[in-house]
Amino acid sequence: MEITFLGTAAFEGYPNPFCDGKHCSFAIRSDNLDKRLRSAAIIDNKILIDFGPDIVASCQKLGLSLSEVELLLITHSHEDHLYIPNFAMRQRTFNENFDGLKYMKVMASAEVINLISDSEYSVDAKILLNPSEPFNTYKFLEYEIIPVPANHYVKEKERGLLYFIKKGDKTIFYATDTGAFDEVYVETLVRNTSLNNIDLLILDATLGFSRSNYTGHNTFESFLGTVSNLRKVGLLSETSKIIAHHFSHHDNPNFHKLRELYFEKGILVSYDGLKLNV
Ligand SMILES: [Zn+2]
Ligand SMILES: [Zn+2]
Repeated sequence: MEITFLGTAAFEGYPNPFCDGKHCSFAIRSDNLDKRLRSAAIIDNKILIDFGPDIVASCQKLGLSLSEVELLLITHSHEDHLYIPNFAMRQRTFNENFDGLKYMKVMASAEVINLISDSEYSVDAKILLNPSEPFNTYKFLEYEIIPVPANHYVKEKERGLLYFIKKGDKTIFYATDTGAFDEVYVETLVRNTSLNNIDLLILDATLGFSRSNYTGHNTFESFLGTVSNLRKVGLLSETSKIIAHHFSHHDNPNFHKLRELYFEKGILVSYDGLKLNV
C-alpha cells in the first residue's frame, strides 16, 4: 500500500493564521515542511481518510486528483476532519465529469452517517453511506477495513473511530484523533480483531511537549506509553514503522526539531506530502 499525507495539523492549522506565537511566526516564514494543513491521508489513490476543510488546498498543494477515490473513511465529526459541504464537489452542478465519476462508499459511525445524510450537500453526490460498527471487518476490493473506538470525546452520542486498513499481509493503523491506549484497551484490540502485527502505525501526537492532562489526544509522553503498550501485546514489532501525526502549534516545535526529538525514539514525524510504502 502507498499512503500519502494530505495534511498533518490539528484543528487550527499550523501555522494558525491568527496566531503570532513563536511556533506560528517561525512556521509562516519557514519552508513547506513547517506548513501543515488539517489532517487527512490517501491510500493507493483509492481510500481517502477524513474529509476536512483543507481537502481542496491539500490536493492543489500536492497536485493530486481525488476522482479515483472509491472509499472514504471518516474518523469523527470534529470540523477539522469532516466538512460536509465537500460532498457537493461531487454533485453534477460542480462536476464536469459527473457521469464518469465512480460511486464513493463512505464509512463512519452511525451518528456521523446521519449528519451526512441529513445534509443537502450529500444529495446526488454518488455516495453510498455505510454506518460502521467498531471491531467488525468490512471487505472492500482487495482491502479489509476494521474500525475501532478512539479515546477521543466528540459529543454525547458520538465516539470517534480509528481504522485498521489491511491488504494481503500488510496492515496500516490510522489512529488520530485519540488519547493514550492503556493496557486494557490494547488487549481489547488483540481479542476483538484477528490482527497480529501493525506494519505502519500513524498515531496522534497533538499535544506534543505540553504537560496537559487532557486525555483525548496524545502528548509525547502518552504517545510513547501507547507505543510501549502496543509492543507488549505484540502488535508492534522491530520492523513496524511508527509515525507521529496531527500536530497542534502550541507545544510542537518546528519540523526539524520535532523530527530530532522523535527520531531518538525510532519514530518518524509526518509532514504534508509525505509518501510511504508498506
Ligand atoms: Zn483533529
Ligand atoms: Zn477531534
